[in-house]
Amino acid sequence: MPPSFATRAVHAGRADFTDLGVHAPPLDLSSTYPTPDLAAAAASYDALAGGDAPRGNAVYSRLFNPTTDRAERAIAELEGAEDAAAFASGMAAIAAVLLDARQRGRHVVAVRPLYGGTDHLLASNTFDLDVSWVAAAEIATAVRADTSLVYIETPANPTLDLVDIADVVRQAGHVPVCVDSTFATPVLQRPLAHGAALVLHSATKFLGGHGDVLAGVVAGPHAHIARLKHLRAITGGVLHPLASYLLHRGLPTLELRVLRMQQTADILATRLAESPRVQRVFYPGMPGQDPRGLIGRQMAGPGSILSFTLVEDSADAMQRFISRLRLITPAVSLGSTDTLIQPPAALTHRAVDPAARAASHITPGLARLSVGLESADDLWQDLAQALDGVARAAPIHTGEMLASTA
Ligand SMILES: *Cc1c(COP(=O)(O)O)cnc(C)c1O
Repeated sequence: MPPSFATRAVHAGRADFTDLGVHAPPLDLSSTYPTPDLAAAAASYDALAGGDAPRGNAVYSRLFNPTTDRAERAIAELEGAEDAAAFASGMAAIAAVLLDARQRGRHVVAVRPLYGGTDHLLASNTFDLDVSWVAAAEIATAVRADTSLVYIETPANPTLDLVDIADVVRQAGHVPVCVDSTFATPVLQRPLAHGAALVLHSATKFLGGHGDVLAGVVAGPHAHIARLKHLRAITGGVLHPLASYLLHRGLPTLELRVLRMQQTADILATRLAESPRVQRVFYPGMPGQDPRGLIGRQMAGPGSILSFTLVEDSADAMQRFISRLRLITPAVSLGSTDTLIQPPAALTHRAVDPAARAASHITPGLARLSVGLESADDLWQDLAQALDGVARAAPIHTGEMLASTA
């Protein structure tokens, strides 16, 4: 019987510890590595250029770092991938994937909604890519001879739409499919098992998991990841080894955190749906919100991010609601130990085309909640009192309101 996910998460990327005589990952902060043997260093350069491990000498930390390499091996193992590449942030990882795609063809097919930064990067034409935005069911008709990538996110940010990965892969044919699986983590979903070429994470979120590291990671077949590592080496978007250390440190508790947060999110989604102060709850665990039956087949559970729309769907009501929260932190980002909330229309999805925002239900009264490790009752109490406060208070000028509650 192969070891369970929980067991692998504890031991992944630690295979060399006994030989090294250590118990915690060594943090190697070297920017460069002495090269007295020039032939050996040259061989290392050549190995690294092919995406392989260096021959004994890492040469230079932009090319290879052993602390980062261990974190990459760990994530590759948890995703069931041959290899993985870590980047300075999720956006640096996405940029590398798109740049690689641009070198192989000009056309990318993408499904909205996506994380606001990804949407902006694709829509802003930064990489001179021709992007077709289509519904998930229309991918096959959008694919052309010069299509080099199909890009999806599931569950999608911020409305938790679930996309059927296997169906997308079928439609894409020979074109590689990249899945941003940040919201799911490998605890709940492993896109490569459904045929995706690449799985991508903003490791800033659940994988790091403690709100103290900015990181991105892509996992997939060796040859594809080697190209991404080459792009990383020549463009410089490497992950700092201290960040790699923190990322690796987060993995042994990943399953515990994700499952506990999911349990709490399920309770809060039910209570929010029953609240007269809430118009609509977006959570794939709610009845009717997983029409393709992907939970069970593609995902082991609905996760711990949910969104909801206030009855008064306005920026003013959102400000009143946010400023009444006492326990929950109003902040962008997600997947941390503490519960975070933010209005996507005003913040994370601000750069998205307004018509596309409206089509994805990203209205001013939509709040995205990333459920942390606090107790469900404490979180509900905070949400309930803030929701009640919004309903009671007459809409007043934000500045006055802030002053009066300071
Ligand atoms: C945050 C996020 C990103 C961007 O990652 P950074 O680490 O902030 O650069 C990409 N995709 C999703 C789904 C995200 O939530």
